[in-house]
Amino acid sequence: MCLAHGLRGAGVDVEVYERHRTRTGGLHGYRVGIDPDGSRALNACLPPDVFDLFTRTCARAPETFAFLDERLRRTLTVPLRPPADDVNDEKSVSRMTLRQVLYTGMQDVVRFGRVFTHYEQHGDGTVTAHFADGSTATGDVLVGADGTNSRVRAQRLPHARVEDSGVVAIGGKVPLTDETRALLPEGVFPGIGLVIAPHGFACILHVLEFPWGPAGVSPLPDDPTGDHINWGISAHRDRFPAGVTGFDGARLIAQTLAMTPRWSPALRRLFALTDPASCFPITVRTSVPVPAWPSDTVTLLGDAIHTMTPGQGVGANTALRDAHHLVRDLTSGDGPVSGRIQVYERRMRDYGFAAVAASKARTGGDQLVHRPVVGRLALTGQRTFLRVIDHVPAFRRRFEASLYTTRGGDRED
Ligand SMILES: Cc1cc2nc3c(=O)[nH]c(=O)nc-3n(C[C@H](O)[C@H](O)[C@H](O)COP(=O)(O)OP(=O)(O)OC[C@H]3O[C@@H](n4cnc5c(N)ncnc54)[C@H](O)[C@@H]3O)c2cc1C
Repeated sequence: MCLAHGLRGAGVDVEVYERHRTRTGGLHGYRVGIDPDGSRALNACLPPDVFDLFTRTCARAPETFAFLDERLRRTLTVPLRPPADDVNDEKSVSRMTLRQVLYTGMQDVVRFGRVFTHYEQHGDGTVTAHFADGSTATGDVLVGADGTNSRVRAQRLPHARVEDSGVVAIGGKVPLTDETRALLPEGVFPGIGLVIAPHGFACILHVLEFPWGPAGVSPLPDDPTGDHINWGISAHRDRFPAGVTGFDGARLIAQTLAMTPRWSPALRRLFALTDPASCFPITVRTSVPVPAWPSDTVTLLGDAIHTMTPGQGVGANTALRDAHHLVRDLTSGDGPVSGRIQVYERRMRDYGFAAVAASKARTGGDQLVHRPVVGRLALTGQRTFLRVIDHVPAFRRRFEASLYTTRGGDRED
C-alpha cells in the first residue's frame, strides 16, 4: 500500500489486488515498531494528510528498553531517545491500525477478494496477473508484495527458498486495565520489556497507549484498537508440543502457562488474562539469500523476497524502504523499465539480505541458548554481560547507540 500511494502520487496508474475480502480481513493487531527507515518511506510515499493520520494513530513512543529475567527482575534498563521529529522518530503502531491508515483514500485502487494465482509475461514486457476467480489484470510492471508465501516469487524466482528458523512463537494481547497495568514492573510500563529466560525462552512485552485514550475510539472507521499490552513468547520449536501452530487461542494461552510454571506470577496472570481471540502462533521463518538475477518487469518487495526473523524488528521497515526506493527508481530517469527495476533490485538485495542475516544471528533456532547444557552457560553469560553494561557507563553508552544502528536513523534514504 505504501508503494501504491507513492506511485499514484507520482502520477502512475496503479492497482492493488488483495486476497482478503475486506479492509479488516486476516489481520493480527500485533505491535510493529516503525523505525526511521520506515517512517521516512511513509513520509515520502503517503499524501501529507495520510502521513499526518499515521502519526496521529501511533501509540506513544516507548521511553525505555528493560531486560528482565523470568521472575521480572531487572537485569538492565536503557533509556530510549525521546521523540524529536515526526519523520525520523521510532514509532509504535498496531498493525491493524497501520493497515487502515494505508487504505485511506485508496478505495479506487484496491480490489479486495482477489487471490493471485500466477502471471504471464508478454513479448512487449507487459504482464498479466491471473486470479483465482478467473479474472485477470494487465500492466507494465507486476510487483509481488504478497508476503512470505509469495506466489509471485514462486514463479519469478522458483529457486528462492524460505526456511524454518527453528523458532516458534505465541503472541497475544491483553486490554490495558487497572489490573493489567499493575502487573508490569515499574521499569517496563513506559517502554519495552524483554524477558530472557532459561531453556532459550524469551518474551517481549510492549505497552501500547493510543492518543484516543482508554475511553475513546480510533479515528479510523474499522479499527477496534484500544490501549493494550502485547506479548510474544518464543523458544526453540522442540519446547512446544507437536501441532501447536494449529492450536486455537485458548489452547495457546494454556500452553504458554504450561511452559512457564516458575515464571513471575504477575506475568502468568497477564498470560491468563489474554483475549484468546488475539492469540496466534507463529513459525518463525527466514529467507535464504539468492544471487543476483536478470531484472525484468516482474519484481518483488518486502517479505516476498526477504522474509526475516524478528531479531531486529525490521521486516516491515525493510518492506517500506523497498517501496520508497522502488517508487523513486521507477519514476526517475529514462530507459527501459527493466533497467530501472535493476537499479532497485541491486540495492534491495544488498540491504534486504543483510537484514535477513543480521536478524537470523539474533533470533534463530541454532543459537547457543537453545542447546541443552551449553544453553544454561550462554544464558548466564548473557545476563552477566547485561549487568556489566548496566554498571560501566562507557559500555552502556555504546550499547544504547547499538540499539539504533540498524534502524536507519543515520541514513539519508
Ligand atoms: C508478531 C510480529 C511482530 C513483528 N514486529 C515487527 C516490528 O516491530 N518491526 C518490523 O519492521 N517488522 C515486524 N514484523 C515483521 C512484519 O510484520 C513483516 O515483515 C511485514 O508485515 C512484511 O510486509 P509485506 O507487505 O512484505 O508482507 P505482508 O504484511 O505479509 O503482506 C502481504 C499481503 O499480501 C496479501 N497476499 C498474500 N498472498 C496473496 C495472494 N495470493 N493474492 C492476493 N493477495 C495476497 C496478504 O493478504 C497481505 O495483505 C513483525 C512480524 C510479526 C509476525
